[in-house]
Amino acid sequence: MENDCIFCKIIKGEIPSNKVYEDEEILAFYDINPAAPIHILVIPKKHIESLAKIGNEDEVLLGKIHRIINKVAEEKGFKEKGYRVIINCGEDGGQEVKHLHFHILAGKKLGEKIV
Ligand code: AMP
Ligand code: ZN
Repeated sequence: MENDCIFCKIIKGEIPSNKVYEDEEILAFYDINPAAPIHILVIPKKHIESLAKIGNEDEVLLGKIHRIINKVAEEKGFKEKGYRVIINCGEDGGQEVKHLHFHILAGKKLGEKIV
């Protein structure tokens, strides 16, 4: 937990969020500024600054996050139609919140494909 991290504050309940999924290791909630009809953020409860800061000990957690992304997709009804998962990393990657997070975008045919 980092005191000045907004996602750690969301995990602690100090900042409200619209939760989609929660367990002891992972939280998913709706993005406050959606970039698609469905925009959900999935985060580890452990404060990891970015994808660049993951360690060997995080391998299982990262695998689990992907399983939870699929579970959320199933439960919210967009698993069949498809979705896009994005991780912004560092300054050039456009990362604004310095707590590792996976964006899930869904609910329409997404444009602006970069890769
Ligand atoms: P990034 O630019 O990859 O760091 O993404 C940060 C995301 O966090 C943005 O899409 C923001 O809209 C979102 N965000 C920031 N503050 C909150 C909040 N309090 N609740 C939900 N989403 C947030
Ligand atoms: Zn944090």
